[in-house]
Amino acid sequence: MHKDDQPEAAHGHAPGSACARCRQIKATHDEAARQGDIGTAEAMTATMGRHLRAAHS
Ligand SMILES: [Zn+2]
Repeated sequence: MHKDDQPEAAHGHAPGSACARCRQIKATHDEAARQGDIGTAEAMTATMGRHLRAAHS
């Protein structure tokens, strides 16, 4: 028997949600922060800000 009572899953493109690029930027930021690379972490924060405006506005 298969499950027939699953709620419709999110389609993954809701405005404001993280896309693949968001996840890449965040992963780079988190890795830089983990390594103490503040310069790269701050650069990723700025990159994320521009990306959000460009792709999620
Ligand atoms: Zn994004």
